[in-house]
Amino acid sequence: MHPTHRLSPGRKRRRRSHLALKGKHTVLCPNCGEVKLPHCACSNCGYVRPGLQLKLEDEEE
Ligand SMILES: [Zn+2]
Repeated sequence: MHPTHRLSPGRKRRRRSHLALKGKHTVLCPNCGEVKLPHCACSNCGYVRPGLQLKLEDEEE
C-alpha cells in the first residue's frame, strides 16, 4: 500500500480484531466419553462412528 493510504494504528487494530485464532474444536467420544477431534478416531478407544472402530495396539488397562 502506498504511504498516502497508510492506516492509523486504531484502524489496523480494528481490522485485526477479527483475526485471532479460535481454540481447537473438540467433541466427546460417545463410546467412552473422552475428548476427541471430530471426524477422527478416538485416541482412547479408537471409535470413529457407528460401524467403524479402529483396533488399538494397547487396549488393555
Ligand atoms: Zn473413545
